Amino acid sequence: MAAPFTATFNQARILFGPGTLNAVAAEIEALGAARALVLSTPFQRADAEALARRLGNRASGVFSGAAMHTPVEVTAQAIESYRASGADCVVALGGGSTIGLGKAIALRTDCPQIVVATTYAGSEVTPILGQTENGLKTTLRDAGVLPEVVIYDPDLTLGLPVAMSVTSGLNAIAHAVEALYARDRNPVTSMQAVEGMRALRDALPAIVADPGDAAARGEALYGSWLCGTVLGTVGMSLHHKLCHTLGGSFDTPHAETHAILIPHTAAYNEAAATDELRPAAALFGGTLGAGLWRFAKRLGAPLALKDLGLSEADLDRAAGIAAQNPYWNPRPVERGAIRALLQDAWAGTAPA
Ligand code: NAD
Repeated sequence: MAAPFTATFNQARILFGPGTLNAVAAEIEALGAARALVLSTPFQRADAEALARRLGNRASGVFSGAAMHTPVEVTAQAIESYRASGADCVVALGGGSTIGLGKAIALRTDCPQIVVATTYAGSEVTPILGQTENGLKTTLRDAGVLPEVVIYDPDLTLGLPVAMSVTSGLNAIAHAVEALYARDRNPVTSMQAVEGMRALRDALPAIVADPGDAAARGEALYGSWLCGTVLGTVGMSLHHKLCHTLGGSFDTPHAETHAILIPHTAAYNEAAATDELRPAAALFGGTLGAGLWRFAKRLGAPLALKDLGLSEADLDRAAGIAAQNPYWNPRPVERGAIRALLQDAWAGTAPA
């Protein structure tokens, strides 16, 4: 018999598959909206403009200033564009940075959002928004920021650079690992987590071998949907707290930080959550921490925090911050043990 559980799921309308980008106009109409402001980062501006052209009079314009960690000044500029252009919904085309901007606009205007997700970070299916103001990042959870429609068109990920595909894929796997031992997990989130990890385990090596492998791109995006979904459904623990600490206080890049830490945080929790993590360990071989570390190494992922510009002297402060107000974690969060974990992750050695 399944253990007792209480489950609450977020509403989601998902369109998945090659060519689903063509559905954006119909989805705008189905939302009862007339004109969308298309959002992107400067890097994806050309793709956003191509989408706006394709939408014709269903697009009010393009705002391509999205930036990492959703700075409130950028949101203010985007809302100005949104209002000036006469938009009544947004289409966010990109990864977590662009999706964050769409959520920040929705929080302030209540506009509906369509997301065309082009990385594996998972933000498109979560009611979570991180924003920065005066260099300080705060995170909120609000059903009002959950996008109404998510489009996963693997064709748009064919150009995601291999290095980013790998780190973003490991970022997705990290959501799934923590979902397996979440206090508020349920049988469905655990199935989603294992299947999401399985898909990424199969797809990422194929993408490294051939970034244009359309089947592998589809499989990776499918896995990232499942991993993002569990991130949006259950609570996260030590791993996400450590990543927020390093990103927030030391400005380390998001996906790379997740990629480097996940073998170490999985190893930290493995003895306290052996049963919960067993299906994940079976996917990667041996113990989960060691299996993930070998997997990351084989993919050519960054392995050492020192390569992200973190100095050894920063580790004491990072361990202190991470051990303060810790998120719930299956193994007690103990400063000395976290410091030791960080040392291995800093040096790039396999988890102890
Ligand atoms: P990102 O959105 O910052 O993208 C990184 C770069 O890659 C950008 O220049 C982007 O334009 C480019 N890019 C994206 N997709 C591409 C593609 N298919 N081809 C070529 N280039 C592409 O990276 P990310 O890792 O997706 O997002 C990180 C941000 O998202 C962080 O701020 C993080 O905190 C946030 N995030 C939030 C949640 C949430 O639930 N709120 C979840 C995950 C991540």
